[in-house]
Amino acid sequence: MHIQAHVSLKEDTTFHVPATARYLVEIDKQSDIRALRSDPVLAVLPWHVLGAGSNVLLTHDIDGVVLRNRYQQIRLVKEDETSVWLSVGGGLNWDTFVRHTVEQGLWGLENLAAIPGTVGAAPVQNIGAYGTEVQDAITRVQALHLLTGERHEFRNAECEFGYRTSVFKGRLKGQYIIHRVTFRLRKLAHGHPNLMYDSVRERLVGKDEKQLTPLDIYEAVSAIRAERLPDPKQEGNAGSFFKNPEVDADYFHQLQQKWPDIPHHQLVDGSYKIPAAWLIEACGWKGRCLSGTDACVSSRHALVLINRGQATGAQILQLAEAIQTDVNHTFGIHLEPEVIIL
Ligand SMILES: Cc1cc2nc3c(=O)[nH]c(=O)nc-3n(C[C@H](O)[C@H](O)[C@H](O)COP(=O)(O)OP(=O)(O)OC[C@H]3O[C@@H](n4cnc5c(N)ncnc54)[C@H](O)[C@@H]3O)c2cc1C
Repeated sequence: MHIQAHVSLKEDTTFHVPATARYLVEIDKQSDIRALRSDPVLAVLPWHVLGAGSNVLLTHDIDGVVLRNRYQQIRLVKEDETSVWLSVGGGLNWDTFVRHTVEQGLWGLENLAAIPGTVGAAPVQNIGAYGTEVQDAITRVQALHLLTGERHEFRNAECEFGYRTSVFKGRLKGQYIIHRVTFRLRKLAHGHPNLMYDSVRERLVGKDEKQLTPLDIYEAVSAIRAERLPDPKQEGNAGSFFKNPEVDADYFHQLQQKWPDIPHHQLVDGSYKIPAAWLIEACGWKGRCLSGTDACVSSRHALVLINRGQATGAQILQLAEAIQTDVNHTFGIHLEPEVIIL
């Protein structure tokens, strides 16, 4: 366990906005939570869990304890003819883990290549990209209760996974730190590529689909992402700031009469998902900044809000609210943030 007091968090979130934590505590093992709870100073402060800070916007200093899991081990739990089960420390970098699996020829996580963050945060918002969600590979999540330090195993069905959400972002928000996650991955001969997205298919044109490996998909997705998304090291950001909204069929058809080109994707329940990026761009926000600040909308992707250098978290939040107001006014749609705002 490692404890620091009065720490700058500017480099601990990918927005790189200024903020401090009264205490930053990194834990390795289950007993660390109990030890912290017996500390009379730390026990009475509010606790916040942070991973790599790639889905968080800090709008003020944290007058409490920021807790981080740094347990990073990968363990083989079991193996059968078709699959392997790996239990992975929540502190491990997500992409390091995905790269490890594709190098072993394992199917399941290759479409989730190059997503920033940690393994422990992946179930929190059920990370997803290019037609895959992490819930498809997770079998169990082992979490420690922040008040008691007790270990709780959540089976997949108990995680209440949904579109960019789970029980850890919803009903049990702020109550647990995820210590380890178990994944079931398919062996090379027992899986197949998910080529649902045109962009992934196009990138692999000329290759024989039957010969494709998880590493081929991983590399294709990584290359697409590098082209499309601003790099948080150069322009602070947290990826998609808002979720893509869903509207019912009646409302969608009303919108379509007014905006015949509105892009959409019909869901199994008959409702429609609309790309938030299109709505934001249609309101004229792409590439624009909040007046007099470095809080801007990326000119590469309208769903990504960026810190051009000196923006504060409060300014990025103000920008997000201005966008929400305009989209609501123009389309009657409420954009819900995907990013956690603290
Ligand atoms: C450039 C860019 C691209 C992105 N692309 C995608 C994408 O394609 N798909 C996608 O789904 N997301 C994407 N994201 C968002 C982000 O990468 C994921 O949400 C990621 O899982 C966040 O991991 P983190 O460790 O940085 O978590 P943080 O941002 O530190 O935390 C996010 C939330 O999870 C909680 N949390 C973190 N670790 C734990 C833990 N161990 N136990 C309990 N709670 C925890 C925090 O309290 C917070 O509420 C992108 C972000 C960036 C910057």
